[in-house]
Amino acid sequence: MNPFSYSRAENVAGAVSEVSRVRTAKFIAGGTNLIDLMKENVARPRHLIDITRLPLNRIQDTDEGGLRIGALVTNSDTAYNPQVEMRYPLLSRAILSGASPQLRNMATNGGNLLQRTRCYYFYDTATPCNKRERGTGCSALEGFNRMHAVLGASDQCVAVHPSDMSVALLALDAVVQVRGTDGYRSIPITDFHRLPGDTPDIDTNLGADEIILSIDLPPKGFADHHAYLKVRDRTSYAFALVSVAAALEMSGSTINDARIALGGVAHRPWRNKDSEALLHGKPASEENFQNAADAILKDARGLQYNSFKIVLARRAIVRALKHAAHLEKQQ
Ligand SMILES: Cc1cc2nc3c(=O)[nH]c(=O)nc-3n(C[C@H](O)[C@H](O)[C@H](O)COP(=O)(O)OP(=O)(O)OC[C@H]3O[C@@H](n4cnc5c(N)ncnc54)[C@H](O)[C@@H]3O)c2cc1C
Ligand code: SF4
Repeated sequence: MNPFSYSRAENVAGAVSEVSRVRTAKFIAGGTNLIDLMKENVARPRHLIDITRLPLNRIQDTDEGGLRIGALVTNSDTAYNPQVEMRYPLLSRAILSGASPQLRNMATNGGNLLQRTRCYYFYDTATPCNKRERGTGCSALEGFNRMHAVLGASDQCVAVHPSDMSVALLALDAVVQVRGTDGYRSIPITDFHRLPGDTPDIDTNLGADEIILSIDLPPKGFADHHAYLKVRDRTSYAFALVSVAAALEMSGSTINDARIALGGVAHRPWRNKDSEALLHGKPASEENFQNAADAILKDARGLQYNSFKIVLARRAIVRALKHAAHLEKQQ
């Protein structure tokens, strides 16, 4: 039994001050990940700060013509918001491909970005895991690593990030707005999640005293040409083996701008701008999409049980781009 205390934050400044003051305190939002981790004895916070009453639950226009999505808006309310559906349908699709309706009704956007890996060994406290406890070893390296990373891994951790929403946010160039004891900060989503290196216990660049306030979407939403393709063991209620967020800006059949973000393949959602540049000014064609897929997967390396992911990712990228270009119908 791990005893913990509980308080409810009345305002953002108070929440930040409390989390910086109380050692091993954690914010709790929807609780759909943190409570599971506590039940499994993976997370052992001594104090929970309930942030659900904070005024971070609005979706509003930004002065730059984009959309600001509050950290405490639920995944369901975000996916079904008329502005998100109309201007950022890629984000709606990605969110709706995740979890179940009941979970999405509880899960918040801030919590979604900060959910932890689904590596089985991370949840199994009887096995060594550098992410759970730095320096103990990685059970997945020589273990059953079918769901693990093929890009950006280290010899300390080969886990993948499980969020679908973050993959779409990466393709859309979102910016995470945060507040800590030193004030406000904007973190581009490209810099939000980290690679494991030799500190796999640290998932993101969010400071321990910082709270996520909102996620800002830039004006460009790729509403006309987008696709989110998630390949998984079951068609619902399962995490991605590979997912692809594809977004194109086109004049006729020529591609002016392209975004390709991958989920399920690395410790963070993965994007490679050089491979996207290969498509600029080119016609939408299977051959050009295959070239872009090969470029993004150039450094991919399989482990004993997951090399199939490299082939799967290549096919999924090509198919998602074909969906986005309307060369093939999206389900
Ligand atoms: C069975 C199951 C299936 C799932 N399937 C999928 C899936 O297919 N795809 C997918 O993307 N997700 C999936 N999820 C994960 C789910 O989307 C996340 O659990 C959820 O988004 C987390 O949000 P929350 O508000 O419940 O976070 P919580 O559990 O409350 O918090 C998670 C973490 O975020 C921190 N936190 C929360 N809000 C803030 C904030 N504003 N600022 C700073 N820190 C904060 C907490 O301290 C905690 O560390 C699944 C979950 C379950 C249980
Ligand atoms: S892959 Fe990462 S999370 Fe999984 S056992 Fe290894 S160190 Fe732990």
